[in-house]
Amino acid sequence: MPHFAAADLGGTTVACAIGDAAGHILRESSMPTRASEGPDAVLGRIAAELAALARDAGVSIRALGMGVPGRADLAAGVTRFLPNLPTQWRDVPVAAFLSSRLECSVRLLNDARLATLGELTYGHGRGVGTMLFFTLGTGIGGGVAIGGRLHMDEMGTAGELGHQTILPDGPLCGCGNHGCLETLASGPAIAAEGVRLLRAGLAPHLFELTGGDPGRVTPREMAAAGDESVRQAILRAARYLGIGVANLVTALHPELVVFGGGVAALGELLFAEVRAEVARRVRMFPIDGLRILPSQLGERAGLCGGLALASS
Ligand SMILES: [Zn+2]
Repeated sequence: MPHFAAADLGGTTVACAIGDAAGHILRESSMPTRASEGPDAVLGRIAAELAALARDAGVSIRALGMGVPGRADLAAGVTRFLPNLPTQWRDVPVAAFLSSRLECSVRLLNDARLATLGELTYGHGRGVGTMLFFTLGTGIGGGVAIGGRLHMDEMGTAGELGHQTILPDGPLCGCGNHGCLETLASGPAIAAEGVRLLRAGLAPHLFELTGGDPGRVTPREMAAAGDESVRQAILRAARYLGIGVANLVTALHPELVVFGGGVAALGELLFAEVRAEVARRVRMFPIDGLRILPSQLGERAGLCGGLALASS
């Protein structure tokens, strides 16, 4: 059986894996990106790590599928704009560099779309026609599958579900728009409201749980705290997320909506409110058959997507 490599490049961490076309991971690892050292150093470490993992597994790499946190020319294998990395990796020939080091073909894809592809190929999305995938983390990314295939354009930019306007005069977003879903329901957006409540003396349990340290306030800590004010903040973010989901459900009538990323770990508190909001807002057709679920692949959605991309 031929084997494939996957890499998921992030601003702070790079995940690497070796696996097969069925999505089975044989070896995996993660390491700090150390992006300040520049693209050549980062890519050199990724090549060395993948080669070491393949050696350890006793297999050779036929192709590599790699996720990048931003925009890339997919046909050329060149990154165009990775906003969270120093120098933003403008026009870095990532595929050519890794292809010469690893002696295999290399394909790039935006990281959220890569996770969507993973879920579609090996997770809840198997056999599904239309699926929406949201990555709820430091930002909100996404992807759309239509007719059982990832909906794509040549830059891999289709599917920026986190940058739809939810509040017309809402907070300024990193993308330049105001009131994007990302400014209201990302991990940092939820945590910022937790910190505000902590400082205002309105969240005594959260204060106790974090030792009063705002740096320790995360959505997960907030869910565990149990303060009514904090619970309401999470429910508000879930309602904003539900509005974003409802907009896309009305437009595309998917069978399945999947949430990945750290914020999805809020569990039923989040999911129940999102489902309720979607039911309140989608009125044009019945949505009894619509499933809204946490990712089956969890943190491995991106790496599994890399294997799917490499083997397709
Ligand atoms: Zn935005």
